[in-house]
Amino acid sequence: MNKARILVVEDDAPVRNLITLTLKAHEYVYITASTGESAVLEAASHNPDIVLLDLGLPDIDGVEVIERIRSWSNMPIIVISARSEDTDKIRALDAGADDYLTKPFSVDELLARLRVTQRRLALLEASSPGESFYVNGQLRIDYAAGCVTLDGQELHLTPIEYKLLCLMARNTGKVLTHTFITRSIWGSSWDNDIASLRVFMATLRRKLESGPDAPQYIQTHVGVGYRMLKVE
Ligand code: CA
Repeated sequence: MNKARILVVEDDAPVRNLITLTLKAHEYVYITASTGESAVLEAASHNPDIVLLDLGLPDIDGVEVIERIRSWSNMPIIVISARSEDTDKIRALDAGADDYLTKPFSVDELLARLRVTQRRLALLEASSPGESFYVNGQLRIDYAAGCVTLDGQELHLTPIEYKLLCLMARNTGKVLTHTFITRSIWGSSWDNDIASLRVFMATLRRKLESGPDAPQYIQTHVGVGYRMLKVE
């Protein structure tokens, strides 16, 4: 796999150094920015493959950086936030961030997040828009027929489970917040009904996952949402 070009946006010099040293050691190419304004500028002029974006910046809010980049690009954005900034993390995901890292994070976590995003990019590049099939591991969705199979066996899903699965599949590799999911499936009147979403998600997973303790396809992000994983 070609090593991706990463834009590192972080105003805290020691954290920025840790990230760039890690990237360098793993043969990634990187550009850095330490303010929100320069981040938007660097993103526009260098068109990086992935943006690593600290949310607490000295000038503009990290969420505003995401909104500005999203106005013209879908480049993957991984946000970095402190544990105390949980609501910011969710705002960032709702604004269009793809994934998040919580400070303090390990070098391994950073590399894992980058690999997940690279796999998602590769998947996007391999699939053409309007494709009528989705294949991930043993899971196959035939969109035209509205039919789902797992290891060749048809899965009998309710309409809501099917919508949920398609939404997750279309966003494979991306963390989707509870609000994003409920809004996409039911509209904004369901914004706070996370309990119902959990129930539908649980029944979907019972049909999809072989063991409840080791989910292969749908990953839970406690307090945040869910992610469809790309199965190797
Ligand atoms: Ca900061």
